[in-house]
Amino acid sequence: MPRVLILGFDGMDRELIDEFEDDLPNLKKIQSLSPKLRLTSTFPPDSETAWSSIYTGLNPAKHGVVHFIDPLEKSLMNQTKDADSELIRGNTFWDKASEGGKQVCIVLPHIGYPVWPVNGIMIGRSSVEDDVQTWSENILNDQDLNKLNTIKGFPGIGGIPHDEFIQKHKDLLDSTLKIGLSCYEKQEWDIFFIYSSILDVVPHFFWKYHDVEDPDYIKDNPFSSVLRDLYILHDKFIAQFLNRIDTETVLMVVSDHGHGRRPTKNININEILRQQGFLVEAEKRASSGIFEAFKCQAIEIISNHNLENIASKLLQRLPSVKKLCISSPSIDWKLTLAYVTDLSGIKSYPYGGISINRDIIKDDSIYEQTRENIIDLLSPEVTKSSGSSDPAILWVKKREEIYDGPFIEKYPDIVFELNEEYGIGNKIRCDVLERNALHAVVPGSHKRYNAVLLISNLNSPVVRTNVSLEDIAPTILSIIGLDYSDKIFDGNSIIAK
Ligand SMILES: [Zn+2]
Repeated sequence: MPRVLILGFDGMDRELIDEFEDDLPNLKKIQSLSPKLRLTSTFPPDSETAWSSIYTGLNPAKHGVVHFIDPLEKSLMNQTKDADSELIRGNTFWDKASEGGKQVCIVLPHIGYPVWPVNGIMIGRSSVEDDVQTWSENILNDQDLNKLNTIKGFPGIGGIPHDEFIQKHKDLLDSTLKIGLSCYEKQEWDIFFIYSSILDVVPHFFWKYHDVEDPDYIKDNPFSSVLRDLYILHDKFIAQFLNRIDTETVLMVVSDHGHGRRPTKNININEILRQQGFLVEAEKRASSGIFEAFKCQAIEIISNHNLENIASKLLQRLPSVKKLCISSPSIDWKLTLAYVTDLSGIKSYPYGGISINRDIIKDDSIYEQTRENIIDLLSPEVTKSSGSSDPAILWVKKREEIYDGPFIEKYPDIVFELNEEYGIGNKIRCDVLERNALHAVVPGSHKRYNAVLLISNLNSPVVRTNVSLEDIAPTILSIIGLDYSDKIFDGNSIIAK
């Protein structure tokens, strides 16, 4: 029976592989052996949400690992805590394989912390503390697992020097490879999974040094080849496994989303809602006016003075500053019917939504009518592709039209996706279309349609080439001979029976 080796790279991007292909002989080789697959990430393509769909074969409304922040509830996601693995524990492809009597070796899965019992080995690490755990406890006690801890801090002024930041990530990749190869050789396995986040973390900060079309690109900068170098290192990482597999081992290279330029322009959806009377501005109090002005000023100063490090550190580490940036004191919550969700605003991401204020709109039929009115309001944007310019809003839907499941209420009532040139802004009393000041802070961002899926050594053909993340778990299980009823997953195996 075949076994499966899965190399999981957060943020590995299909177009970057094409761009660097002359320097990536091993990826190029696997690409030539793989069916041509198009992998689409989840909505939104956040790493925790996307990997959870890869692991469980379920859509985000079923596994529940989704984070939109509702400013009205003021329920701030505290990023100083690890994402809870509780929602996926016991439901992953390696849990199903373990139950089916197969042996697994799972190395550093994203959000696989704390670890849980499996039939084999599981190594998990915290993303906020320095802690690496193994199941079972007595394995790997001859190894220095501390080297697997994630790199804390950000590159730039006041943080880790850029060169050092890059070197630390290269060393982390090297340590991951060493532990991975040691598990590969010591442990019996039917499924082997190893994960690295470096191709996501580093481009978030270094995208603008690579992309000549980025407005913040600096000519002749010393970091212009950082992304290429990292892809070359990952290609060598892949070679180490490629050299060790036999013809019975199916090799899968997978990413949760692609990575590219963060939008440089924002569409202030809240301003559209304000103009149409769905959102009401709070009566001007001197303090809130100053507060808003300070907020806009702060972001401008940050982006104009290259204070990326300080800004992102503040955003990530200090809940009070994050609250400052994501709260909107100029909105009158007692009168506002609809508002854009905040995380989309702060990230200036093309993927987001609008929440309806159910404190005011209690009646279900009025709720439905309000949703339809807002969808109608935004829809003309979808079709407005005048001349050569693409529509700004790709689609706008009710949340239950994209996914169904017990956690669907974690989504905003209306969801939409912008053209990837645009991020979602949450400001009011300003232009609807604005420069995105946050672009300079973290210039790289997730891309939903550029995820990677390469599969080599398959001895059956694939039945289709358009693949969603939910298809991956059933595909892995069917390769090792565990065929489940289609009903337990949202995805289906892509391998012909
Ligand atoms: Zn990321």
